[in-house]
Amino acid sequence: MADKVLMVPPNLAGRRHAVFQITPNRNCNIRCDHCFISNRHKAITSHMSLGLYKRSLDVCMEFSKRIPSMEEADIVLMGGELALLPDDLQEGMYRHTVDRVIEHLAETAGSGRPQREVSCAIISNMINVGRDKLDVFVRAFDYYRARLDEERHRLGGLSFDLTIDTSWEPDTGRFYKPHVYEQWLDNVRYMLARGVAVGLALTGTRGVVTMDVKERLDFFVRDLGVVPMYDHFAEYGEGRANGAHLKFSYDEMVRFLIAFGEYAERLAEERGEVVASPFFRAGRTMEQLHSRLLAILCVDWDGAIAMDSESSAETQHTRKDSVHGRDVLCVTEDADDGLVDAIVEQAQRRLVRESRALATSACADCRHLPYCQGGFVHYVGRFDGPGQCAGFKQVFDHFCPEHP
Ligand code: SF4
Repeated sequence: MADKVLMVPPNLAGRRHAVFQITPNRNCNIRCDHCFISNRHKAITSHMSLGLYKRSLDVCMEFSKRIPSMEEADIVLMGGELALLPDDLQEGMYRHTVDRVIEHLAETAGSGRPQREVSCAIISNMINVGRDKLDVFVRAFDYYRARLDEERHRLGGLSFDLTIDTSWEPDTGRFYKPHVYEQWLDNVRYMLARGVAVGLALTGTRGVVTMDVKERLDFFVRDLGVVPMYDHFAEYGEGRANGAHLKFSYDEMVRFLIAFGEYAERLAEERGEVVASPFFRAGRTMEQLHSRLLAILCVDWDGAIAMDSESSAETQHTRKDSVHGRDVLCVTEDADDGLVDAIVEQAQRRLVRESRALATSACADCRHLPYCQGGFVHYVGRFDGPGQCAGFKQVFDHFCPEHP
């Protein structure tokens, strides 16, 4: 019987991107106010075995081959805090990821599938971690660079980017003491000085949305040398429980996105490459910013699978007391390929639900729909005042006046 593949409804045909997130552990060494993992779940100290990690990545790569229109895949490794895992487990996971992705791309190069890139982000808060722990990430990056040089000839021009990412927000308690911010800066500089590509996640809390965009991007891009990536703030976990002070107004967000987009464009012109994202010029869709992807596959520390990143972080404490307990798909070390068929079915149901919802919403008549894809999926219904929407359409009116 032929493998099941994901069929994309016509009104979502513009999408090209999928995200594969693996969370080997939930425990963390800090307690940010906006975190989508509840502090109750951060108490879990159990973590994934290397065997389960390898099988989870296999399942992600096999599933990615069942998405015929996918061009770009993001692999995201995140906790909790990964640096809390044993060093040998981390080394095993990162090296295996590099080797597995290279084999996947080498196989894809001859397959006729449209996939052209894999981006892999290994995420750490880089707070209260010693140099020995940072060196685990440095060695992972060095291994990636060396292997890519060895194997580039087999990739047929397909690209594989690996970064070690961290985060910054001024209002979430991340930098709970002034010296913690200085220590974080030192750690980021330590990584950069060793040639590591460092990405910087800016999550859309009020503190980020009302920051001085030029001053902050100048500091992050020109002075520090990281690549800032803005993400909307999805209020789950701690963010739902105690995020009131993190909320922004609709107009604050519109002003921020326009200022961010304009300055990111100026930096790109200056540098000849995109150095801050999102990038609002017409063409590509906003599927990443809006979590409106072909598919999102998340594998939790115990192998439990979910088809959304933020919302799933609240539910999957353990399979036993999960509200979805009985119908949660799970990766196990000996999981067979039947699991990938089951994942395709779940992803298909999710896409069909989304397609129907969009076809019957105000978005259906919006000139920005093929580009916007329906706004940030977690803001639908939140901004419903006159002229408001989950995509902040005024931003697209500003950057994409040519949309018919
Ligand atoms: S801009 Fe707003 S109305 Fe238009 S598609 Fe996006 S979310 Fe929907």
